Amino acid sequence: MLLNANVPPGPLDQKWTWHRSHIKLVNPANKRKYTIIVVGSGLAGASAAASLAELGYNVKGFCYQDSPRRAHSIAAQGGINAAKNYQNDGDSVFRLFYDTIKGGDFRAREANVHRLAEVSVNIIDQCVAQGVPFAREYGGLLSNRSFGGAQVSRTFYARGQTGQQLLLGAYQALERQIGLGQVAMFPRHEMLEVVLVNGQARGIVVRDMVTGEVESHAGEAVILATGGYGPVFYLSTNATGCNATAIWRAYKKGAAFANPCYTQIHPTCIPVSGDYQSKLTLMSESLRNDGRIWVPKKAGDTRHPDQIPDDERDYYLERKYPSFGNLSPRDIASRAAKQVCDEGRGVGPGGLGVYLDFRDAIQRLGVDKIRDRYGNLFDMYERITAEDPYQVPMRIYPASHYVMGGLWVDYNLMSNIPGLFVLGEANFSDHGANRLGASALMQGLADGYFVVPYTLGNYLASSKLEKVTADHSAFKEGQGYVAARVSKLLGIHGQRSADSFHRELGRIMWEFCGMARNDAGLKTALQEIPALREQFWANLRVLGSGEELNQSLEKAGRVADFLELGELICRDALERRESCGGHFREEFQTPDGEALRDDQNFCHVAAWEYTGDGNAPRRHVEPLEFENVELATRSYK
Ligand SMILES: Cc1cc2nc3c(=O)[nH]c(=O)nc-3n(C[C@H](O)[C@H](O)[C@H](O)COP(=O)(O)OP(=O)(O)OC[C@H]3O[C@@H](n4cnc5c(N)ncnc54)[C@H](O)[C@@H]3O)c2cc1C
Repeated sequence: MLLNANVPPGPLDQKWTWHRSHIKLVNPANKRKYTIIVVGSGLAGASAAASLAELGYNVKGFCYQDSPRRAHSIAAQGGINAAKNYQNDGDSVFRLFYDTIKGGDFRAREANVHRLAEVSVNIIDQCVAQGVPFAREYGGLLSNRSFGGAQVSRTFYARGQTGQQLLLGAYQALERQIGLGQVAMFPRHEMLEVVLVNGQARGIVVRDMVTGEVESHAGEAVILATGGYGPVFYLSTNATGCNATAIWRAYKKGAAFANPCYTQIHPTCIPVSGDYQSKLTLMSESLRNDGRIWVPKKAGDTRHPDQIPDDERDYYLERKYPSFGNLSPRDIASRAAKQVCDEGRGVGPGGLGVYLDFRDAIQRLGVDKIRDRYGNLFDMYERITAEDPYQVPMRIYPASHYVMGGLWVDYNLMSNIPGLFVLGEANFSDHGANRLGASALMQGLADGYFVVPYTLGNYLASSKLEKVTADHSAFKEGQGYVAARVSKLLGIHGQRSADSFHRELGRIMWEFCGMARNDAGLKTALQEIPALREQFWANLRVLGSGEELNQSLEKAGRVADFLELGELICRDALERRESCGGHFREEFQTPDGEALRDDQNFCHVAAWEYTGDGNAPRRHVEPLEFENVELATRSYK
């Protein structure tokens, strides 16, 4: 397997400009001869589909929701980063680049991250032009707030609904092109196979989720913008529909899967409340601008928070990381929360919680200001917990939230399969081993609005593409595979629901491959997951039929893929014998409990090649070279 990152020559800050000026173009009259398949209508997919259609390509868009505007991106709360330096507080493209590289614990590709920082400024202009209602200062200028891992304020936001407003912008751009006939949109269609002809991605096989019909769609290139696989942990802050199926099918067709073990556990989620919960709720990181995190100093202290005086409280992030305090990056803040709970100082039922307290901010700024900044998040918290966060501190605990791993892509965002591009959370991304808050929206929109419109054209203009239609035998084969798999799931007639297998997989993943991982635990998981998978295929029960809207069938297909991906995640975590970012191997830590990297042996991307069912996947590496930043020990103290 060849993993050529195709990073352009020249100085770091000139690479993207050089590349854009030298890559091949498709002339306007030829663009309409190409059909581009875009799977996913979140920020990455909608922005790509709209931009490509605007350029003149024919686009076919797919999503499994009933409307493209219901993609998971709508849930994003806190904000989107950009190096505008509106605050005059010392921000720059280089600083955003550096913060992202450092935040990712020096496990991302320099050139990609620099480009991300460069185009971040264009994203804000684009979204403002679309009418996205970003928060504004009194004088009318766009407002900013701070997010973790940065000492400048560079996060643009629309209250606690930034994802929704950004997606409405991208969706309107997409709808415009649907109206013009340049995009054909297929909602409620689930992609279940990617089709290759002569080694190039030439289309997909989808299932119409309403009728059950299996269909083929051919084109000159395929873009996967299918989001993250956080729900492999069962409980996560992601929408319950988020899944790995599209990228897993691509992996099984030869696309390399990079760094699957880099998963992000977010520190500020509403704690688990019972066994029958299907998802968890995020309390945006933006709350850490004004909320202070603490636990009682004494283990087993069950007094009401009001009864615990300040000198008996441990504001542990402020104590341990005085420079960044409550705005320490997510991996650090999550581990610190786990640590204090492990010491018996957690609060709430089961001791699995820490306080996020607004008492001081309300005293300082007044309740109206806090309501203005975070009102909808406070309301959400109260609806879920029946506690009023204006009166008592919120209780929060870490939960699975985001995945930095995904399909390997080169500088052009193309996987190792020619013609298969991967955008947004679905690719292995620019975030290394830990993503900084407010950088996922930035990356998804950078990929869709500002990168792929150039790099896709270069691919089309420089590739030999024979004429292929959906009648090609490769599509027949793909449809046969999909139909057989659906029948197989329906035909087991066992005793257990897909959901019960999913919950059990989640328990294994959280216990052995969650916030802390070790050799023995990962080996246990690698025994338990295949055994669970075997039970799944022997004892699954899917109610209903394949010719109707059948959520139990959809779920079964996704869980089947999670049961394979979970194993790859644990295998990757076992092989990476170092700690970095969100991947914390207990054997590799500094005396004060911080992640201990091994740059000598692991300063690389691990990319996995599928070698057939029942065979061990092959691990490849893309070495990471740092020419512009020094590989430093990450410190937020
Ligand atoms: C609660 C929450 C809050 C967040 N807040 C922030 C924030 O404030 N700032 C920030 O930067 N990031 C935030 N994030 C992260 C960010 O929202 C996501 O990383 C980002 O929105 C992902 O966008 P995407 O376009 O890659 O994928 P998604 O928005 O997940 O879209 C995936 C699309 O793919 C489609 N799809 C998937 N599989 C298939 C298939 N097999 N067939 C057909 N279609 C398919 C779906 O229908 C959907 O349209 C948050 C995440 C969560 C969970």
